[in-house]
Amino acid sequence: MGKVFAVLGDIHANIEALGAVLEDCRAQGVTDYLCTGDVIGYNASPKECMDAVKALACPVVKGNHDHYVSSLSVNLNDFQPHAAAVIRWTREQLATEDLQWLADLPYVVTVMGMTLVHSTNDKPETFGYVFDNLQADANFVHQKTPICFHGHTHCPMIYEKSMNGVWRIDPQEMRLQPGRKYFINVGSVGQPRDGDPRAAYMIYDVASRVVKFRRIEYDIAAAQAKIRAAGFPERLAERLQFGQ
Ligand code: ZN
Repeated sequence: MGKVFAVLGDIHANIEALGAVLEDCRAQGVTDYLCTGDVIGYNASPKECMDAVKALACPVVKGNHDHYVSSLSVNLNDFQPHAAAVIRWTREQLATEDLQWLADLPYVVTVMGMTLVHSTNDKPETFGYVFDNLQADANFVHQKTPICFHGHTHCPMIYEKSMNGVWRIDPQEMRLQPGRKYFINVGSVGQPRDGDPRAAYMIYDVASRVVKFRRIEYDIAAAQAKIRAAGFPERLAERLQFGQ
């Protein structure tokens, strides 16, 4: 049997969402996992999410929040007070070896001809955003493999580069065509921002070359209760129920 990858990203310390997603992965016959980074930040279960991701023993790349929390070169005075408070709180929840694990994450990983990056292949350590075809085209110049999975914007979508140029395709089940390049945003497990509050992730079946975007209901109220108990800004709890 061929490999069936689940690609998870922007989990952001939301263990309720991650638990529901992993349960769906098992039901969908997933054999392997990939993680596009931002395991922590925004939500209030960083330790649980780190343990769950470590247990998958899969390739993981570094997200900007993974960097903020684990790098001592990051100055919290450069952040808004609310954001700095969440980063400081997250640091306190994690053991030294967890922080080291985050700090040691690579920016880019290649697996079976697929690239994994949090933001873009063009200077991945600067965490630039891809919101349109022009920015996607700049990424394709630096993308060495036919397929690249990424996250960062928390909005699932597909950019396809063929002889006709770069096209943006809404997330849907589709077969990837040979001879073309794909830059695929897998969406966010723990803080979706495309107006759909359900947890997002993606499945890629290597043998059939079919990608499938999944949306999974989870206990949003439980995740919100933890955010409020941790004393985070109310906006972080509220946005989960609107997917924004
Ligand atoms: Zn993120």
